[in-house]
Amino acid sequence: MQVMFMPLPRIPQQDVLIWQYDSSATYSVKIGYNLLACEFVVHAHDLDSSELQRVKSFYDNLWSLSIPTKIKVMFWRLFKNYLPTNVNLSNRQISVNPSCHLCAAASETVYHIFECSFTKRICSNMGINYLTTSSEQYWVMWLATLFYPLNVNQRLMFVVFIWAIWSYRNNKLHNSTLQSEAELVRFIRVYIAKLISHCVSSVPGLAKADVKWTPPPGNAIKFNFDASFDSLLKTFVSGVVARNNESLLMATGTTPHCYVVNPEMTEVLVCEDAFILATELGFNRIIIEGDALTIINKAKARTDERSLS
Ligand SMILES: [Zn+2]
Repeated sequence: MQVMFMPLPRIPQQDVLIWQYDSSATYSVKIGYNLLACEFVVHAHDLDSSELQRVKSFYDNLWSLSIPTKIKVMFWRLFKNYLPTNVNLSNRQISVNPSCHLCAAASETVYHIFECSFTKRICSNMGINYLTTSSEQYWVMWLATLFYPLNVNQRLMFVVFIWAIWSYRNNKLHNSTLQSEAELVRFIRVYIAKLISHCVSSVPGLAKADVKWTPPPGNAIKFNFDASFDSLLKTFVSGVVARNNESLLMATGTTPHCYVVNPEMTEVLVCEDAFILATELGFNRIIIEGDALTIINKAKARTDERSLS
C-alpha cells in the first residue's frame, strides 16, 4: 500500500539505487562490513541499542589506535574469534590438544587468553587493574564493554599487552627462545612507552609553556621540559625543547621511561633528560625551565632535603 502513496515525478526520471544505511546514501565496503558485523552480533545475542553502540565503538576505537597494523589485526581477529587457538583448531577437526599452551589448566579459547593465570600474573606485574573477566556475560560484549570507558593510552596499552601475550604463547608453541616473565613485562613496558612517544607530537604542558615563553638572555639556550605520566603502567615519556634568544629551535628530544614510581619521580627524570641533552650538545650557558612545581621546589631546597621519598 505504501507504494500508492509515493509521489510520482512530473518529469520522467531514471530509477536510482539508494543505500539507506548511510546519510550519504552511497554504499561503501566499510559501511557494508560494519553493518554485517553488527547485524550478526545483534541477531546472535539479542543486543539492545546501548550494547550495539559499544560494539560499534569497539571497532572505531581499535582501528583509530596509532599502533602497528599487525597488532590491530591480531586484536580484531581475537574479537571475531578468528585466532587459531587450540579450541578453534580442534573445532576445525585439526588434531591438537585443546589445553592452553601457557597454563595447561583449561581449554584454550579466545576468552581464556584473558582468564589465563599466566596473563593475570603478567597483568598484575604490570599494574593493570582493569582486566577483570566475567563468565556471566557474552564474552564479545564483555570485551567491548571493558574497552569502552578506557582512554586512548589505556586502549593502546591493553591491545599491545594482549598482543604480547599471544606472541609469547606462539613463541612457546614454536619452541623459540623464551623471555623470562620479568623480561616480558619489561619488553611490554618499553614497547608501549615507545609507541606512546611516537604518538606524542607535542608533549602536554609544553604548549602551555609556549604561551608565556620568554627568550633567554644573550647567548644562553633555554630548555623547556615536561612529561606525560601513566600511573597504571608506571611509564612516562619526557619531552625537551631547546631554543635560543631568537626563539630558534636548537634541539628537541623525547625519551620513554619505565619503572617510574610516581609523577614526582617523572619530573626528576625529565629534568635530568634536559640536562643530559644540554651536556651532549655542548651548550655552556643553559636555562632549564618547566612547570613542575614539586621538582623546582626540591631543586631549590638544601642538598639534604632533595629526596622525593
Ligand atoms: Zn591458560
